[in-house]
Amino acid sequence: MAVTLRSGQPELPEAIAFDCYRTLFDNSHDDWKLTFGEIIEAQNLPMDSEEFWTRWRKYEVNFRKIRTDLGRPFDSPPFKSYRQAWTECFQQVFDEMGLDADAVAAGDRASLHMTDRPVYPDTVEALELLKGRVKLGVFSNADDEGLLPLLASERLEFDFVASSQSAGVYKPALAAFEHLFEGLRTEPVKVWYVGDQLFDDVLGGYRAGATTVWINRNGEEVDREPAPDIEITDLRELSGILEHIGG
Ligand SMILES: [Mg+2]
Repeated sequence: MAVTLRSGQPELPEAIAFDCYRTLFDNSHDDWKLTFGEIIEAQNLPMDSEEFWTRWRKYEVNFRKIRTDLGRPFDSPPFKSYRQAWTECFQQVFDEMGLDADAVAAGDRASLHMTDRPVYPDTVEALELLKGRVKLGVFSNADDEGLLPLLASERLEFDFVASSQSAGVYKPALAAFEHLFEGLRTEPVKVWYVGDQLFDDVLGGYRAGATTVWINRNGEEVDREPAPDIEITDLRELSGILEHIGG
């Protein structure tokens, strides 16, 4: 157990909501490279998966960077699903390399990748331990076509599940969290939001008024503000914290 409580004793939550990828399910770069290897093989592309990934990732990171204007949300570009954005990133790679390849098929394979990720060993038990004690929710930056089959594959049950696609907005935008609170019918101060990303999850949850829980599986340092209210290394610790504060 390695629980850190930063803002004194947190209040008992009515709901606990989770990020999905790298919080409930793994989504490693190594696995992505295997998928890129499959696209290379299927389309007989003249590069290795490392080069392909690096070229594509440059465009993909740019998509993530410009998709949400936190200060002026109304200035954010029109919403784009991952399938659409990723397909465009593949097209940009093929264009820069002068390749006549199929970006739609590549985007399809990348989207399929999100339906089939390994669940973390603590996820199922952690949710079992919380069931019936608090409402449970998910908000994931994801397309429904990836997120919903993935949650169903482990028979995970939640009171409310939302994706950036169903909400039409990406974390850390305030509107994403408001969509979640509304779906859970719970005030922000009564929600704990659990995620692995200090920007999308902790900053987003903090701005929206939730108690933030950072799942830090790899012993990383907090390298940006705000620091999470609660830090854990294993999801099962949540149940122990509830007991500790009287839940
Ligand atoms: Mg995540």
